Amino acid sequence: MRQQGQASSSKLSADMARYAPTVITADTTALSPGDRKALVSLVRAAAVMDRLFLRQTWSGNEETMRKLAADQTPEGRERYRYFVINMGPWSRLDANASFVPGTPAMRPHGANYYPEDMTREEFNAWLAALPEADRERATGYFTTVRRTADKALRIVPYNREYADLLPEAAGHLRDAATATENPSLRTYLTLRADAFLSDNYYKSDIAWMDLDSPLDITIGPYEVYMDELFNYKAAFEAFITLRNQDESQKLAFFANHLQEIENILPIQPAYRNPRLGAAAPIRVVDLVATGGEPRAGVQTAAFNLPNDERVVTERGSKRVMLKNVQEAKFNTILKPIAALVLDPSQQKDVAFEPFFTHILAHELMHGLGPHAITVNGKKSTVRHQMKELGSATEEAKADVAGLFALHSLIDRGLLDSAMTRPLAVTFLASMFRSVRFGITEAHGRGMALQFNYMLENGAIAHDSTSDTYCVDFKRFAQVASKLTGEIMTIQAEGDYARAKKLLDTYGVLTPVLQRTLDRLKAIPVDIAPEYPLARTTS
Ligand code: ZN
Repeated sequence: MRQQGQASSSKLSADMARYAPTVITADTTALSPGDRKALVSLVRAAAVMDRLFLRQTWSGNEETMRKLAADQTPEGRERYRYFVINMGPWSRLDANASFVPGTPAMRPHGANYYPEDMTREEFNAWLAALPEADRERATGYFTTVRRTADKALRIVPYNREYADLLPEAAGHLRDAATATENPSLRTYLTLRADAFLSDNYYKSDIAWMDLDSPLDITIGPYEVYMDELFNYKAAFEAFITLRNQDESQKLAFFANHLQEIENILPIQPAYRNPRLGAAAPIRVVDLVATGGEPRAGVQTAAFNLPNDERVVTERGSKRVMLKNVQEAKFNTILKPIAALVLDPSQQKDVAFEPFFTHILAHELMHGLGPHAITVNGKKSTVRHQMKELGSATEEAKADVAGLFALHSLIDRGLLDSAMTRPLAVTFLASMFRSVRFGITEAHGRGMALQFNYMLENGAIAHDSTSDTYCVDFKRFAQVASKLTGEIMTIQAEGDYARAKKLLDTYGVLTPVLQRTLDRLKAIPVDIAPEYPLARTTS
C-alpha cells in the first residue's frame, strides 16, 4: 500500500498512463431543434451531478479540488487531472489509496453519507432505538446521517442536505422538458425535477422505464457502492445519451428469433422452454456526457437500473448499453491485446461490429436456457442449485450461447456468413481482456472456463514459440455448441457437483494463460474520456 503524500511525479505519470485519453462523441445530426435545445440544459444538469457527487464522496473534496486547480506547476496540473479522473484524491485502481498530500490515506468507508467518526456499531445501536418509520428513512437511499450539536445522530433528507444544488438541477431538467418535443422525455424530466425537490423518486423511475425518445437520459441518485459501511445511500449520476437507431433495429431482429433459437438449443428437448417470457428491455445508446459517479475511475459500458425493489418488482429493470464507449474501449484496449496475442494471419479479422453484436447476444442469452427447474421432484431454480458457482456458469453460458445463437442465424442465412471469422477471432482476443484482472470475479472465471475448454477441444490453438493463438474455424462453432450444451444441461439438472468439476477443471489460470496475460501489463486498463459535444452544447 502506498503512503499518502509520497506519490512522486513519475509514479503519478505511470499511474495515469493506465487511463488512455479518448474522445467520446456521437452523431447529433438527427436531433430535432427542440431536442438540441434540451441537450444544452441536460449537459448543465449533468454538471450539477458532478458537484453533488464530489461532495458525497468526502466532506473535504470540493475544497481539495479548488486547491489542486490553482496549482499551475506541471506536477500540480498532472495531479489535478488525476483527481478529476478519480473524482477525488484516492486512486480507484489502487484500493482507494490517496495520491494527494494532506488528504486522508483512504477514503472514509461511509464516504460523506455519515459522520466520519461514526462506527457501524454506533449506527446500529441508534437505529435499533428509532421508531419503525424513522428506521426506514435512516437506511433509505435518499438521506444522509449527521450529528446534532450534542453529538447525537440524526437523519437529513437529500433535499435538505443538498438544498443549494438540487433546485438548480431541477431547473435545468424543467428547461429541457419545455424544449423537447418528445412527450415521454418531457414526462420523465418533469417528474425527475419534482423528485429532486421531494426525494420521492418512484414515479420518475416508472417514467424512466417508459422513456421512448431519441434523447435517452438517466439522471439522479442511484448506485450504493460508495457507501462501504452499509450500501444504503445513493450517489448522484447522469448519463446523457442518444438512442442508437441501427442497434435498436438489430435488437428487434434478435427478439423476433429468440424462441426459434431456444427451440434448437443443444440440450434435451425437455430442457428447452416452449414459451419464453417477454425479454427484459435493452436500449443501445451513444454517450454524449456523464455527470457524477460515472465520471470516476473505470468507465461504465452498460448498466441495469433502477435499483429500487418496488419498481423492479412492478416493472422490471432496463439495461442500457453505451455503444460508443464500448467502441472506444475496443480500440484502446482490445486491439492492442489482439496485436500481442493473435496469430498474424488472423489479426485482420478483429472487428468492432461482431464484438458488439456478440455483447448484445450475450445479454439476450441470459433469458434463454433453463431457469426454473425440477430437482428430485421438487421445484427449484438454477440460481438456488448452483449457489456460489451460479454467476460464473451463467456468464459463461451467455457467452457461448451467444456464439451458438449467432452461428445458428448465420447457418439459416439470417446473418451474413462473412461474420463467421471476425466473430470467432474477435471473441478469442476478448477472452484475454476478460481474464486480465483475475478469475475471482464471475465474468473472468467464466471466460477462463471457456478459454481452457476451447483450447483442449481444439477450437483454438496455441503456438508456444511465439506465444500467440489462432482460431480453428472448422471446430470453433461445434465446440461452442458443445460447451453450451454442457453448461445448460448442468443448469437444467441443477447439478452442483458437475458444475464444480467443470469450473475446477477449466475455470483456472493455467501457466500457459498466465504467461500470455503477463505480456499485457503495458496495455491501458481503461479510457479517460473527453466529451467534445458536452463542451460545445453547454
Ligand atoms: Zn452477462
